[in-house]
Amino acid sequence: MFKSKYDVVVVGGGPSGSMAAWEAAKGGASVCMLEKDRDIGYPVRCGEAAGESGLKQFVDIKDSWVAERITGAKLGSPSGKLVDVEFKSETGFILNRRVFDYDLSRYAANAGAEVYTKAYVKNISNANGQVNGVVLDYLGEEKKILAKIVIGADGLTSRVGRWAGMKTQVRMKDMESALQYSVSNIDIEPNKMIMYVGKNHAPGGYLWVFPKGDKFANIGIGISGKYSKHKSAKKFLDEFMEREYPDAAILTTMCGGVPCGKPMRNPVSDGLMLVGDAAHQINPMTGGGIVSGMKAGWIAGQVAAEAIIKENYSVKMLNNYSDAMWKAFGKNYERFYKIKEAVHNLSDEDLDYIAEQVLSIPHNKRTLSSVFKAAVFKKPALIIDVLKVFAGV
Ligand SMILES: Cc1cc2nc3c(=O)[nH]c(=O)nc-3n(C[C@H](O)[C@H](O)[C@H](O)COP(=O)(O)OP(=O)(O)OC[C@H]3O[C@@H](n4cnc5c(N)ncnc54)[C@H](O)[C@@H]3O)c2cc1C
Repeated sequence: MFKSKYDVVVVGGGPSGSMAAWEAAKGGASVCMLEKDRDIGYPVRCGEAAGESGLKQFVDIKDSWVAERITGAKLGSPSGKLVDVEFKSETGFILNRRVFDYDLSRYAANAGAEVYTKAYVKNISNANGQVNGVVLDYLGEEKKILAKIVIGADGLTSRVGRWAGMKTQVRMKDMESALQYSVSNIDIEPNKMIMYVGKNHAPGGYLWVFPKGDKFANIGIGISGKYSKHKSAKKFLDEFMEREYPDAAILTTMCGGVPCGKPMRNPVSDGLMLVGDAAHQINPMTGGGIVSGMKAGWIAGQVAAEAIIKENYSVKMLNNYSDAMWKAFGKNYERFYKIKEAVHNLSDEDLDYIAEQVLSIPHNKRTLSSVFKAAVFKKPALIIDVLKVFAGV
């Protein structure tokens, strides 16, 4: 049962939290991970797509995690043209996050972290301006736990950062409102993900069809908050379902937000680190945050273990996490954000033109870079944006 003190308390049992708990425990810290829901990994609020190379950095991939292997993508233009592109070097997965997340928490537990579900953190505690613990409800009882370091892995709706006075708000235009159906009884090509772009499909975002086994798929949409007030994500998605898959049975409906802005540069304060969605660590072009959240949790867990050994929980020490995270992916995500802005400035006519150009390339010669080249041909300014981005201007 709970102790009154740990070296590290992790709030939230998603992939970022489990990685942080796992690494901190491996590094010798006493660790407690608290998850408000009844189960780790459920309910699933995710399209569940992740790249093999990203996951392999941390874990050996188990068959039970993989619902579908993805070897290529179809990009749907505004007028409905489908451009089929094979992945040359990467394999993607549509995961079973229910199993995947659960296993990650087991890895953390096997390394010595204590894991509690139905443990709702309702505040943090402070002493001398330093975060030093959490207050939670556990099975109807209030508990206080002291910690040398708290890691906030509590997802998009993170309150840990806000309680600590950090600026965690996301601008409306950068917040994608997302809705996803898990559907059965659809005819769908396995191993190919489909992504539709354009203002008629998903303004400021995209609509995805991720196959997940026999006649089954995650079909969802994310649209920028700038547009969702005029027409909701649900309306866009329902129109698409009616048009493309009128016989589909919708077995699960879920909605959520995806912060598709820039990641927080320094998601730390004395005694506190934020990881994953809580620190907006999502690829702004794809809305993918599983692998980057895991990476951030992995780094934060190691920095936490080192901080415990050195008995230094100051913001200066914990900035080692911010700096390593920024180097690992944060800086790139800042760049991707600028590219996303440029791509979203393409009109539906531009996107249709690009689709036609790429379709004229023989199938076996088509790559994602040929899509990009066609985009640049149509809108040379894009190359300037991209060059600026990589030059860091
Ligand atoms: C519709 C949709 C589709 C997506 N599709 C993809 C995709 O295909 N690929 C991809 O890579 N990413 C996708 N994402 C993003 C991805 O789901 C997240 O980036 C990822 O789950 C982040 O992991 P995390 O551990 O930071 O947060 P989460 O997975 O959100 O975990 C946070 C955990 O904290 C718990 N928690 C929150 N508050 C408290 C509290 N007060 N006390 C205790 N526990 C608390 C929550 O219950 C939750 O379990 C999608 C997101 C959405 C909304």
